[in-house]
Amino acid sequence: MRSKLIAGNWKMNGSLAANQDLLLAIAQGLGTPSCNVAVCVPSLYLAQVQHVCASSPIAWGAQDMSCFEIGAYTGEISASMLRDFGVRYVLVGHSERRQYHGETDEQVATKVQRALAAGITPIVCVGETLAQREAGLTADVVKRQLAAVIHANGHCISEVVVAYEPVWAIGTGKTASPEQAQEVHAMLRLQLLAASKQADRISILYGGSMNPANAVSLLAQPDIDGGLVGGASLKANEFLSIVAAASQ
Ligand code: PEP
Repeated sequence: MRSKLIAGNWKMNGSLAANQDLLLAIAQGLGTPSCNVAVCVPSLYLAQVQHVCASSPIAWGAQDMSCFEIGAYTGEISASMLRDFGVRYVLVGHSERRQYHGETDEQVATKVQRALAAGITPIVCVGETLAQREAGLTADVVKRQLAAVIHANGHCISEVVVAYEPVWAIGTGKTASPEQAQEVHAMLRLQLLAASKQADRISILYGGSMNPANAVSLLAQPDIDGGLVGGASLKANEFLSIVAAASQ
């Protein structure tokens, strides 16, 4: 049985003061959630989040990490550095990293290896652009992105979390319908099952304009095991509503 995970992606938002308010409001409203809850924050704030969330049910994560282990890579942050701050999750291959920083499938696969070696659960993001969807390429694109990660990680693939995030739905207010999302999730599940007998335990999250109004129907789909939430994770009441939807 897969327990649901709701992970917030704060992207490049926050300040010491705003983070404190947001985290305390979430922690206060959360009680004892019956799903897993995490916030993926700008790395500079990991120490703060660790301090504020240490005795709460909120886990924390980073939004990216280096594909290198150590050394002359100015500006990079390694998996073991993240581990020093109690990080449980790290987003890998978010479409904004692929799009604005030219991240390749191979780099994403290496980051997944490094994260797993450091004991951090990578949340591997895959998803097609609008042009790719309209050209009927959705399956090809997401399968190619996931295949690179499977190829590099062998049986360890059962330790990852996957997030299907159609690029056209991220930050646009356009959500994939529950049926559209379920179709892709089921396909990804089959691909994972072909790679590992343990794949049944891999959580596949949906991400892309998830909000309190659409969360219930998305999360009711059999292969949607939670959400990766951007904009709505910056408002405590919206984030809490999505967590409540996942706890039903
Ligand atoms: C994201 O950035 O991962 C995301 C899903 O953003 P939003 O919820 O704002 O579409």
